[in-house]
Amino acid sequence: MRIMYFLGPGHTGSTVIDSLCGSHPKVSGTGESHRLVLESESMRCGCGETLADCSRWAGVIKSLPGPSQSEFPMTVVRNRRSVDALADFVVGGVGAERRIGSDYRRRLSEAVLNSVDVYRRLSTLESTDVVIDSTKNAGRLLGYMRVHGLETTVVRLRRDGRAIVASHKRRQPSISTLYATLAWLKVELTCWWILRISECDAYSVRYEDFCSDPEAVVRGIWRAARLEDFDASFSEIVAAQERHLIPGNPVISSPISQVARDDRWREELSALDRVVFTLLGGPINRKNGYPLR
Ligand SMILES: [Zn+2]
Repeated sequence: MRIMYFLGPGHTGSTVIDSLCGSHPKVSGTGESHRLVLESESMRCGCGETLADCSRWAGVIKSLPGPSQSEFPMTVVRNRRSVDALADFVVGGVGAERRIGSDYRRRLSEAVLNSVDVYRRLSTLESTDVVIDSTKNAGRLLGYMRVHGLETTVVRLRRDGRAIVASHKRRQPSISTLYATLAWLKVELTCWWILRISECDAYSVRYEDFCSDPEAVVRGIWRAARLEDFDASFSEIVAAQERHLIPGNPVISSPISQVARDDRWREELSALDRVVFTLLGGPINRKNGYPLR
């Protein structure tokens, strides 16, 4: 069993890409599987059922030594007190790991090993070679890198930072453009740093390229994960997409029938928003291939 890890900021199309990649007979798409045991009685799978009742996940959850985060942690739940949250935001990722020290490392390692255990069960059940984790968080990737003998293909997701900022603000209207820009920058810098220190090659996917030619991008990801090409038309790939993904937000994802590029940021960001973004995020956005237009 190998892992395909989607790394990058949110709002980059990871759910749809995960779902389409999961149509390959040798791939199990899972979504944000670190949430599997967080609230399995109430959290809904992409199929609409709760995870505890879903035809795919119920059996996996029942087979675990303990079906809850406290008994079988699959993620590190951070302390959300305001001071800690601010410290996490400022130092974030690797910095947070150093700050919290060995306790955080121990908990991360336990969560990652438990997740790998779940993926092994899933790949055996579904006779697949690759399991996708689209958590996207850089710290978790560091955890996978430390698991001896585990092969991980990293898919680095990118999108125009202005679109990510606008999506973030749409989801949480109370946040400022400054906050959303800093949040995006933090993720970009943490991903860059983790890839650098782990000397890991990542397969780069841009949201905009995926929207223009989803089939080429999905087949490119399969190749990057050393999978044989899946001899199916794009409409067959769409029809076979994985519907039991664990969503990153409470919205139930519906299977896609077409990929439409979302460029609402062009209308939504004001001139002032664009100035704030450009001053802080312009250089990184340009480096990612997004000129300021
Ligand atoms: Zn389901």
